[in-house]
Amino acid sequence: MTMVYDPQNIFARILRGEIPCKKAYEDAHVLAFHDIHPQAPTHILVIPKAAYVSYDDFAAEASAEEIVAFTRAVGQIARAAGVAESGYRLLANIGPDSHQEVPHFHVHIVGGRPLGPLLVKP
Ligand code: AMP
Repeated sequence: MTMVYDPQNIFARILRGEIPCKKAYEDAHVLAFHDIHPQAPTHILVIPKAAYVSYDDFAAEASAEEIVAFTRAVGQIARAAGVAESGYRLLANIGPDSHQEVPHFHVHIVGGRPLGPLLVKP
């Protein structure tokens, strides 16, 4: 899947400070903020600061430093949100079949209640 990065996507605009977000975490490579339409008591989006369309793109093109920073940040953010003990779900939508809405790679951290089955039949 080859997708061209659209610099006008909503998360690119958040990264540029053009629209606000409720920040949960930030470091040199990573930003995390609360989802605007939370699906559970904890619903945080974690994004790399650099321009990657999807997990596919990030895994192939990001530096080792970026990948380590992102992976560690996800764990740290979940612990800080208080869901590490009760459990949580990590979710990344990639491409059309997953209904990826925003074409800037992001992981959802969802928790704070029992989450039920992973997939709902269409
Ligand atoms: P996805 O379907 O994985 O691309 O999910 C995109 C997510 O971004 C959805 O859960 C939206 O609720 C969320 N979202 C869209 N716009 C914003 C925004 N401005 N601030 C925070 N979350 C947003």
